[in-house]
Amino acid sequence: MFKKILVANRGEIACRIIRTARHLGIKTVAVYSDADQEALHVRMADEAISIGPSPSTESYLRADKIIEACRLTGAEAVHPGFGFLSENADFATALADNGIIFIGPPPSAMAAMGDKIESKKLAEKAGVSIVPGILTPVTSAEEAIQQAKIIGYPIMLKASAGGGGKGMRIARDDQETKEGLRAAMAEALTAFGDDRVFIEKYIEEPRHIEIQVLADQYGNTVHLGERECSIQRRHQKVIEEAPSPFLDDVTREAMGQQAIALAKAVGYVSAGTVEFIVDRQRKFYFLEMNTRLQVEHAVTELVTGLDLVEQMFRIAAGEKILFCQKDVMTKGWAIEARLYAEDPVRGFMPSTGRLTRYLPPVTNSHIRIDTGVDEGSEISMFYDPMVAKVCGFGKTRADAIIALRTALDGFYIRGIKHNANFLSSILASPRFHAGRLTTNFIAEEYADGFSEKITQDKEDFFVAIVAVLHTLKCMRGAVAIKSFLELPAIEWVVKFNNKYLPVKLVRNEEHWSVFQQNRTHSLVLDWAPGTPLASGSFDKTPFCIQVDYSNLGYFLSAQGGGAEFLVLTPKVAALNKKMLIKQPPDTSKFLLAPMPGLLVNLPIRLGQNIKAGDELAVIEAMKMENVLRAVRDGIVKEIYVTQGDSLSVDQKIIEFA
Ligand code: ADP
Ligand code: ADP
Ligand code: MG
Repeated sequence: MFKKILVANRGEIACRIIRTARHLGIKTVAVYSDADQEALHVRMADEAISIGPSPSTESYLRADKIIEACRLTGAEAVHPGFGFLSENADFATALADNGIIFIGPPPSAMAAMGDKIESKKLAEKAGVSIVPGILTPVTSAEEAIQQAKIIGYPIMLKASAGGGGKGMRIARDDQETKEGLRAAMAEALTAFGDDRVFIEKYIEEPRHIEIQVLADQYGNTVHLGERECSIQRRHQKVIEEAPSPFLDDVTREAMGQQAIALAKAVGYVSAGTVEFIVDRQRKFYFLEMNTRLQVEHAVTELVTGLDLVEQMFRIAAGEKILFCQKDVMTKGWAIEARLYAEDPVRGFMPSTGRLTRYLPPVTNSHIRIDTGVDEGSEISMFYDPMVAKVCGFGKTRADAIIALRTALDGFYIRGIKHNANFLSSILASPRFHAGRLTTNFIAEEYADGFSEKITQDKEDFFVAIVAVLHTLKCMRGAVAIKSFLELPAIEWVVKFNNKYLPVKLVRNEEHWSVFQQNRTHSLVLDWAPGTPLASGSFDKTPFCIQVDYSNLGYFLSAQGGGAEFLVLTPKVAALNKKMLIKQPPDTSKFLLAPMPGLLVNLPIRLGQNIKAGDELAVIEAMKMENVLRAVRDGIVKEIYVTQGDSLSVDQKIIEFA
């Protein structure tokens, strides 16, 4: 086994690799950019080497600097994590030339799987079923339309060099094909410097299910079962689970065997993932192979009990895999959610800044958290905005959902915007519980975007909690305690969303009986006034909820909902009703920028008659082109910006008459 390795990555994955190395008694070297001088991975490693300025092109992507860092520290091997140089065959070759071991697959396998067109050709030859399509790049709109005709709509335009969901467009007719080709090629060129785009069939109601494989240098190749990653936004994974609620044993085995066949065909060594798209009849088609450790590997670790990073170390050090296919067993259910620094309420705009509060939930046998930050850390604009990966594990899928949901609801982060409540909302949705997943889940369930609006069925839950929280706070006062305890029932009126909801509380030994109109609930609540989290059970279902003081009341958030509440005595409530309500300004006549970005196209003119669905503006943000379309008919009355302008969020673009 190695004595010392270097981790060529940052953030949670660097920390995760260091953890396993330490467990195996391997010394670790971290590398860091200027922005990461005080990062957690730097503090965790035995040694740390500075490799340059903050932009990753000048630090984490510099193979020469990483090789130099190995030389300086005597590291024998490099683990690349994911992203950055992890799928760069030239980097692996350069390491080998310097006598350093790359903890990953041979460069030839990476090169073979690095290009979508080439890898599909190879997969087909190895007997793997691939998505019907034409494996030559298209160059003109005419050619694309012609190919689409042969394949049949709907189709998917895809960048051959693609990754991370970039350079991909669905088209349902000739017009969309034309527009999609232009956008996909432009995006591919900016993101990968390669604008080859090809066309394949779009699989309807698709589910993304992938197989984890592991291969050693002696020809032993096993698969570790599947992960379902159908909960995606813009073709990027958001929630992943193992096993998949959709697969039967026969399909699972067939997918596993094809994954192994492909790995063998390319001489694969190390951990890798073969991604498939699965249609509603459980027919599956190869998408691509990721020749690295995957972000979502943790769910496989939870159900198999294996440490994939340890396996990668052992394989790279020349050890044999000590088990065979029939020894691989899975137990229980694991679900992972990616906690990102972004604002789900505002179109998932990235959010940067300092973590002024960072209180992760306590980990135990049901909750795993992989993170690279702690309180006071900075989420910078230079890197991936992932804050943490949160996994719930349980005997059944329902257990895993509860574990993950309470973990997310209890993840207290302030200083940046984050998506914990959005993730929690997905986990609370009946459709997710039923396992009716497709990659369109988020687009369909949140067609109008995500708002923290508290749905009718959650009202009782929030109102009961806030009433008891307020009672506990009042009981804190020495004088109040006596009078409160003497009351047979405590009556409040909870104001929220301009509604006044009466609620009556009766305290029993271990729980509160909560009366709301003709409904009665039982609430157990554990909260110390002033602390940011309360937990307990509502009608016997466990929960965790975040409590912030706001104005005169409380801001509560959990399970996808969040709102401000005021708890009033009936008398004050009657007076409060007489207060005037301030109306928010009407913005329905404006097209506002939904995100900050560059206005790359504004194909309208003053006085133009607009039909619903017409293209109004194209904003480029985060390397993606976003087309803004008219939601209803109208006439352009005023144009406030010009093409090439850099827009801020909510900036006026057009006013309609
Ligand atoms: P895919 O979506 O292609 O299956 P994953 O879901 O495994 O791949 O995500 C891999 C991508 O995640 C990387 O290419 C990178 O852009 C991003 N990423 C997430 N966290 C990090 C990190 N800590 N360092 C580098 N890249 C990261
Ligand atoms: P990337 O390299 O960006 O990860 P993939 O080819 O793995 O690209 O595709 C990413 C996602 O896009 C898939 O998980 C799936 O949601 C969607 N997708 C890709 N190809 C198809 C297809 N032919 N039909 C339907 N969905 C697709
Ligand atoms: Mg992929």
